[in-house]
Amino acid sequence: MSTTTDSSNRCFSDESACTGHPHSATQVWGTREFAFETRAIHEGFAPDPLTGDVVPPLHVSSTHVQNAPGDLKEGFEYGRCGNPTTNAFASALARLEGATHGFVFPSGMSAEDTVVRLLTRPGSHIVHSTDVYGGTHKLFSVVKPAEGWTSTSVDLSQGDAARKRLESERPDLVWVESPSNPFLTVTDIRSIAEVTHRIGALLVVDSTFATPYLQRPLELGADVVVHSTTKYIGGHSDIVGGAVILRNGLEIPSSITPLFGSRDAAEELRCLQMAIGAVQSPRDAHLAHRGLKTLGLRVARHCDNALAVAQFLSAHPRVAAVHYPGLSTDPGYDVASRQMPRGCGGVVSLQLRSEAEALALCTSTHVLTLAASLGAVESLIEHPAIMTHSTRAGGGGGVPGTLVRLAVGLEDPSDLIADLDHALNSLPA
Ligand SMILES: *Cc1c(COP(=O)(O)O)cnc(C)c1O
Repeated sequence: MSTTTDSSNRCFSDESACTGHPHSATQVWGTREFAFETRAIHEGFAPDPLTGDVVPPLHVSSTHVQNAPGDLKEGFEYGRCGNPTTNAFASALARLEGATHGFVFPSGMSAEDTVVRLLTRPGSHIVHSTDVYGGTHKLFSVVKPAEGWTSTSVDLSQGDAARKRLESERPDLVWVESPSNPFLTVTDIRSIAEVTHRIGALLVVDSTFATPYLQRPLELGADVVVHSTTKYIGGHSDIVGGAVILRNGLEIPSSITPLFGSRDAAEELRCLQMAIGAVQSPRDAHLAHRGLKTLGLRVARHCDNALAVAQFLSAHPRVAAVHYPGLSTDPGYDVASRQMPRGCGGVVSLQLRSEAEALALCTSTHVLTLAASLGAVESLIEHPAIMTHSTRAGGGGGVPGTLVRLAVGLEDPSDLIADLDHALNSLPA
């Protein structure tokens, strides 16, 4: 839901006088600017003056009493149009990305689809990173083409070649996933933002693998950030959710007609989200917000553990290749060192010499669990070509059957390494 402290939560009325619900803690105390970890704990909610609650209460009511018809208390009207719990989470996440307007969704995919609807129309052209999450690939290669969009995938991590392709493709929207799923490709967001804006397009960055702790795309020139909050932000494999954060002042492109009459992208998204009902359950938002408070702590440890695992795998004779931008030998290392200096996240991919070996590895670990997803406390192992990227399976730029993806969790890294060592050494020769 909309987080703003200055806009209405209403959906049944055009009046814009309502003030919404300003849940927000102080970001600056005197002249002191608080650090990420401090803000992750305090943004989005100040202790409730009435009850003294120190955490945002879980508001489950689907409707709110009105003083008189259309005269709302605190701006809340009906569950699809705004909820104090979801607003607190969306506000906190937006502020951690360096923005004021955040919106939370029932899934990452729902967030992605809504962004495309907000900023483009049937007939628009989208260029997206070649390496993207399987669901994102399906959205751009199956769903959107059937609805009248065109899309092309371009390896946006390839500097000059990528800039030339963008100039010739002339897209309306550029969609970067960095680091990408499942190859951990790193794209220089600042450089892609510059060419995107020069050709009059908008830039969306799927920053799910990085989280705002490691990378803040809006500060690098992106217009929109999307997250699957199912992953690191939730962090405990117990919710599905998504988020969209808009750069402050973002406008709907002049080439399209705003559905609800406003050029202000935040206002349009607020109306679009309530019109299509793509809203997160307050119960899930509450859990995601709890996850957000420990995000920095968890992601820092994910990075340490993943680097240790990647270094171990690089030296193992049964491993044909390792993809992790924290390794100095990785093609993404230089850009990652600048763009996400605190670390490269918890996902590591590796290639075996055959698909049979990759499949055998997936069923030979004991601490790493065979399951899709990533970003939670427990380590997972999965086979992308079968489990998460089947629409992209195959050779020629696709996802090969030799690839295995690890979501390195928060167990002791020596236990993870021992588990992988044992599993690799017991592969049939
Ligand atoms: C999981 C994921 C998504 C989709 O999110 P859901 O919450 O599963 O809908 C999008 N992008 C990336 C990079 C992901 O890992």
